[in-house]
Amino acid sequence: MDSKTLQDRINQVFEQQKSHSLNLRTSSADLRIGMLRRLHDWILEHRQDIRDALFADYKKPNIETDITEIYPSLSEAKNTIKNLKSWMRVKRVPTPVTFLGTSAHIQYEPKGASLIVAPWNYPFNLAIGPLISAISAGCTAIVKPSEMTPNTSALIKRMISELFDENHVCVIEGGLEASQLLFAKPFDHIFFTGSPAVGKIVMRSASEYLGSVTLELGGKSPVVIAKDADLKDAARKIASTKFINCGQTCVAPDFVLIHASMRDEFVSYLKESIETLYETDGQAAIDSKDFGRIVNERHFNRLKELITDAKARGAVVAKGGKTDASQNFIEPTVITHVKPDMMVMLDEIFGPILPILDYTELDKALSFINTMPKPLALYAFSKSDKKLSYIFHKTSSGGAVANDCVLHFIHHELPFGGVNNSGIGKSHGHYGFLEFSNPKGVLKQRVGFTAVTPLFPPYNRAKEMIIDGLLKWF
Ligand code: NAD
Repeated sequence: MDSKTLQDRINQVFEQQKSHSLNLRTSSADLRIGMLRRLHDWILEHRQDIRDALFADYKKPNIETDITEIYPSLSEAKNTIKNLKSWMRVKRVPTPVTFLGTSAHIQYEPKGASLIVAPWNYPFNLAIGPLISAISAGCTAIVKPSEMTPNTSALIKRMISELFDENHVCVIEGGLEASQLLFAKPFDHIFFTGSPAVGKIVMRSASEYLGSVTLELGGKSPVVIAKDADLKDAARKIASTKFINCGQTCVAPDFVLIHASMRDEFVSYLKESIETLYETDGQAAIDSKDFGRIVNERHFNRLKELITDAKARGAVVAKGGKTDASQNFIEPTVITHVKPDMMVMLDEIFGPILPILDYTELDKALSFINTMPKPLALYAFSKSDKKLSYIFHKTSSGGAVANDCVLHFIHHELPFGGVNNSGIGKSHGHYGFLEFSNPKGVLKQRVGFTAVTPLFPPYNRAKEMIIDGLLKWF
């Protein structure tokens, strides 16, 4: 599509949706639930099509697509269908003494016309999850899937065109140009999932018309292993969550901080865990059906450079390290003797490379984390609840998990999102509904005045004395 046609198309869909968003303000819970049911059923019926698209994009194993794309989308839809009526219900609030004679409530109005921009790493789930929240809140949505996963993008477009009128939900495909044209439109809300660098562009664009934003970004999510942790258990859980999707997961453990005296034992368990996951019966990880590929050559070269730089500066590749450019393959790789100034420690890795850093005092490890931008997640392993609580209180992160990794992402009742550099706003379940809603505070005057009404001008000494009393009373 040439630039002029793309611009015209975006203008046309935006105007249609902006106008339809006014009709949706009064849409009932039943109507929204009906749409979510149809979306849910489509996903279930087209499970194999979704698997095929993901496999064609970056050889994502079928079962991994089931677990990380299809299951979270279905469960988000089901949870929303079950709870939407209660989330939409008007909430009465208590009346303070000074407001006697009034009543007040909160009603949840849809923000209006929304834009959802998705990344490539979980390209189905991260487009559909926010869409479920937008529909539940009564918003229209333009969805822009990632251009880096074109098969999944085409499938999402097909699904949306089969299920929705264009004036309600519509997919605009494309890369940088499409994103830039979309960000320039005055959406009521933008839900962006991607890198902090592009998140800043989104926020700058939205500031032009003061649109609200949800930014689901990334960062370096640390794992802290305390001296009393079960090392074998920690290694198994860290390996399985780090290397799933080839490490291309926003909440993947990015690096491990471990007491120096325990590092070698932990690394040996880590090697065992990787072998169990991807090298069964002595096969090489490259032949494993269960291990995917890096999404494209640019990211492959970026990751290879991280290994080369670390090795050149004295790090040790304790496991893996092999690459194959012909198929964007990088082995599950563990690197020890890592220093904070190595390239692998400067930015989010987003690939199957796990640096291990030693510490000698837990407090110094936590101080080190606090020198970095706040991460999307923090994982801590310890047998002591007191120590876990200490770690979570001394650090700041979007979310946290004790004695496991990543699982908080699929817990319905938890808000999911980052903090500052790793994101703004929360998603999933009720939090996703709230993100696309304006909780409008409504006050109803019932008797014609409140306790403060007599205090309006003209001011005089008597009123001042009443105020003196009131200020002391409250
Ligand atoms: P990205 O920021 O490069 O791209 C995301 C989207 O922004 C794409 O649709 C792309 O077309 C668009 N885009 C890219 N460059 C742009 C520009 N200069 N101007 C306007 N739009 C632009 O992110 P990605 O590489 O697709 O995904 C990886 C990142 O996403 C990682 O940082 C990861 O941590 C993060 N992520 C976060 C979450 C979360 O839930 N917090 C989930 C998955 C991924």
